[in-house]
Amino acid sequence: MRLRKASALAATVLTLSLTATACGGGGDAGGDGITIGIKFDQPGMALKTPDGTYEGFDVDVATYIAGELGYEPDQITWEEAPSAERETLLQRGDVDFIVATYSINEERKQQVDFAGPYFLAHQDLLIREDDEVPDVEAINDLTLCSVTGSTSASNVKEDFAPDANLREFGTYSECLTGLENGAVDALTTDDSILAGYAAQEQNQGKFKLAGLELSDEFYGVGLPKDSDLRDQVNDAIRQMVDDGSWQRFVDENLGPAGYEAEPAPEITETD
Ligand code: GLU
Repeated sequence: MRLRKASALAATVLTLSLTATACGGGGDAGGDGITIGIKFDQPGMALKTPDGTYEGFDVDVATYIAGELGYEPDQITWEEAPSAERETLLQRGDVDFIVATYSINEERKQQVDFAGPYFLAHQDLLIREDDEVPDVEAINDLTLCSVTGSTSASNVKEDFAPDANLREFGTYSECLTGLENGAVDALTTDDSILAGYAAQEQNQGKFKLAGLELSDEFYGVGLPKDSDLRDQVNDAIRQMVDDGSWQRFVDENLGPAGYEAEPAPEITETD
């Protein structure tokens, strides 16, 4: 028993030091490969699986764009890009670009550039299966959970439910436990993300989407300010739509959750 514990510890130490080496220098930005920021905990959109692979619509979009920029999938380093850290990751040069359910808005455009958009989602509520769908006015009476640094949290405060009690976490998955045990009444963010949680095997029969279109969220590819990649990324997005890859990525990743995606939006973020 002792021995096994010791060797497990040794393995952990080895893994940690290998990880530390791989991460040294703050990612691959500028090196042989490319470092892309994604979410790690949004099933359907971008998920790091227990075996260390990455899957989801944003992963496929990012891999396609990287391919058009000349990078093979094995040259991609995936970096977690939580909502509140996206601007900083781009400004510090820790990532080359971000594909992480990242809504284009004026405030963010002061700090970073965007290509795209490549997707249109709408903010919604995830509630417990047995609860009644509130009308928009009644959202003010609820305890909501969302994520710091997201448009979902700022839309609640500045737009549709300024009087609601809003709890903020670092990731959306942290809100799910609170929703299940009754600590919060609803998790609010984009319907694309919520549909993925509702469809997860361990959540079957527990939650449902309210079906309220509370906002328009146009997802862009986040780039460092004044990046010279914007034209190429926009070309890659256009081609991804034209050659049918975009629809395939939607069907494969969001189809299983029964999510009905909007058509691919027009590209607006040009020089
Ligand atoms: N699309 C929204 C945003 O960019 C919510 C999803 C997220 O936090 O990634 O803030």
